[in-house]
Amino acid sequence: MTPPVAPQHMVTRFAPSPTGRLHVGHGWSALMAMDLARSSGGTMRLRIEDIDGTRSRPEHVTGIIKDLRWLGVEWDGDILFQSQRIGIYEAALDRLRAMGLLYPCFCTRADIQASLTAPHGPEGAVYPGTCRALSADVRARRIAAGDAHAWRIDMARAAARAGPLNWRSFDENASSAVSADPGVHGDVVLARKDAPASYHLSCTLDDAAMGVTHVLRGDDLRSVTDIHRLIQALLDLPSPAYRHHPLLMDAQGQRLAKRSGSLSLAQLRVQGVDSSILAADLRAGRFPVGISYGKA
Ligand code: GLU
Repeated sequence: MTPPVAPQHMVTRFAPSPTGRLHVGHGWSALMAMDLARSSGGTMRLRIEDIDGTRSRPEHVTGIIKDLRWLGVEWDGDILFQSQRIGIYEAALDRLRAMGLLYPCFCTRADIQASLTAPHGPEGAVYPGTCRALSADVRARRIAAGDAHAWRIDMARAAARAGPLNWRSFDENASSAVSADPGVHGDVVLARKDAPASYHLSCTLDDAAMGVTHVLRGDDLRSVTDIHRLIQALLDLPSPAYRHHPLLMDAQGQRLAKRSGSLSLAQLRVQGVDSSILAADLRAGRFPVGISYGKA
């Protein structure tokens, strides 16, 4: 008789960026990630994506933690702060550089905007690859001269090295394979001029380091999952299963955003909203007035 297969211990996470306060959509997402873990006796982790030194604010970190606790979101273990993991990101960049898959990019935002022929991918303009063509000499000279640069992945080369890729999508009932096409994003940035790693690199490395088995996040991140799957393949990292939930929209049909002062958890708390009623409403898909589901 074959021994029974031990069920996988589920690990989920919520991973806010402290660039503003959380809105009700974030609260809903965090509750779903926690409930998913709790439904199988699993683990829920919290990660603060504070890698962006120019936009992250310590007061938002404390605010976010307060808002989550108020809403009844509980996590296990220590909070992971990306700002404390710079060395890990640098080591991964070194590995990718040693594989010949990264190149320095000196282009400014304006340079990229000016390249009118740039095709568009799911995340906007695709980098036209200008700096991919620079010689090793020019690269070395410009780096030695202190020219500001990002590091981009040579997508064609990386995709060829990784071969065909799938990621696992899960819902309440089943999981299925989704074929990944990272190439549509072009040569994305893995280390920014102003931050030691891009979201794609740090998020992928951290999900693996935290043992995350199930990623539940907004539908706006569905297409970049292909990039994350590529990084997993290149760096021999395990690949979690993913579910992308619909985004919440305001009365004008716009996505809720931290910047636009969309209904924040902090505002609701100040207004004296009962957080246990709010949490029950969000779980039941009843959102505050003027907020509704976006596309699935
Ligand atoms: N930090 C990202 C955000 O706040 C979410 C990252 C993720 O869930 O993968 O949008």
